[in-house]
Amino acid sequence: MNLPSYITVLLDRLAAHGFAGYPVGGCVRDFLLGKIPGDYDLTTSATPQEMLQVFKDYRCIETGLQHGTLTVVSESNNVEITTFRTDGEYRDNRHPTEVTFTRDLADDLSRRDFTVNAMAYGQTEGIVDLFGGKEDLQNKIIRCVGDPDRRFNEDALRIMRALRFASTLGFEIEKNTADSIHRNAHLLANISVERIFVELKKLLCGVGAEQILLQFNDVFCCILPELQPITGLLQHNPHHLYDVYTHTAKTVSLCEADPVLRLAALFHDVGKADTFSQDENGVGHFYNHRAYSVQKADVALRRLKCDNATRNTVLFLVDWHDRLFGEFTEKTVKRLLRTQSSEELLLLCRLMRADSKATGTRLHEPCPSADRLEEIVLRLQQENPCLSVTDLTVNGHDLLALGYEPKEIGKALKALLEAVTDGKIENKKEDLLTELRKN
Ligand code: ATP
Ligand code: MG
Repeated sequence: MNLPSYITVLLDRLAAHGFAGYPVGGCVRDFLLGKIPGDYDLTTSATPQEMLQVFKDYRCIETGLQHGTLTVVSESNNVEITTFRTDGEYRDNRHPTEVTFTRDLADDLSRRDFTVNAMAYGQTEGIVDLFGGKEDLQNKIIRCVGDPDRRFNEDALRIMRALRFASTLGFEIEKNTADSIHRNAHLLANISVERIFVELKKLLCGVGAEQILLQFNDVFCCILPELQPITGLLQHNPHHLYDVYTHTAKTVSLCEADPVLRLAALFHDVGKADTFSQDENGVGHFYNHRAYSVQKADVALRRLKCDNATRNTVLFLVDWHDRLFGEFTEKTVKRLLRTQSSEELLLLCRLMRADSKATGTRLHEPCPSADRLEEIVLRLQQENPCLSVTDLTVNGHDLLALGYEPKEIGKALKALLEAVTDGKIENKKEDLLTELRKN
């Protein structure tokens, strides 16, 4: 393993003081996969107090010290160094009641979640692989270290991590581990939604997202009960080859790997269960399902404590995902651009294309409404028209000078913007001032 100098200086320093030190976990996994590791975590035989001594002339951040982790700043990189440790009994499927420091690397590797994450690299001994991690990497397998039931009971977040690594690496989950995930999915109720959401977003962006969504539908229904009613929901429609959940999983994987877009794909049809009807020919319809999807996505995203910006974009995408070709006129798009950015409208084009392909019946057909929307957005971007109040040629100061009260300004500017985007007035300062003087 070719380690960067900011890592080798730390390992050398530990060795000079008689302590063992190893890069461990994700960086070893990534190296064996032929990827350049994003960061290097180190594990060491030195206790936290000993580390503080060894690195006393370095800038150190001590926030994780109780759990054995010291962050050392090396050549302006933050490197986490953690004392070999084992975890004590676990409480509530998430917290070890205590951690015990040890001098034995094997103890430390055995507390790690999956075999592919439980390898260390020693500068003299090479890869330390006690649980068959290398072989599992070669065979593209995610497998728990030790007994899966026990490991998921200790820390149920590992369920989400297993799905996340399988999805992002494109791996299979080994049978015993997979069976145990199905048995223990309910334990996720004990895990904080913030941590689940972080894993969910990464998982959705993985190359294996479709496969994982389908294979572990039960797990996703635990964290997102909104998905239950669309699971297996038949569409009775010649345009749709798949039930709504399968179609959803396919839409996710057909979108570009952007978390906002993929969340929108996950939720875009959750309202279908509330709106199913069949006409006299037995053809299924889901009139106005987008409104129900928006409402359910809103509830789900708030429950997951999703940030407002992400939630708003997802809800916009869900709300607009199934509009018809004719709905995208220049006027509509200009109106949309008052509240959404052009990037968001381009995301919408991608969602519409993925949705269309994921029907299974229109794999190679063009998506005219997306093409139309895209064409209008790109043209408007080129023309650089007035899209927001800040693009107007007048501002608050001009209005104050005309005798407007401060509290009236926002409203007046909005009205001007509307007149300009509707083409009633030109965005020229003189014209706008004349308009303002009329009021
Ligand atoms: P990446 O950083 O690329 O997402 P990673 O494997 O480095 O992947 P981290 O969350 O940074 O993942 O964790 C570092 C290492 O700590 C893991 O490789 C694993 O050995 C161990 N680990 C992390 N979380 C857990 C957990 N919940 N249970 C057991 N071991 C864990
Ligand atoms: Mg990491």
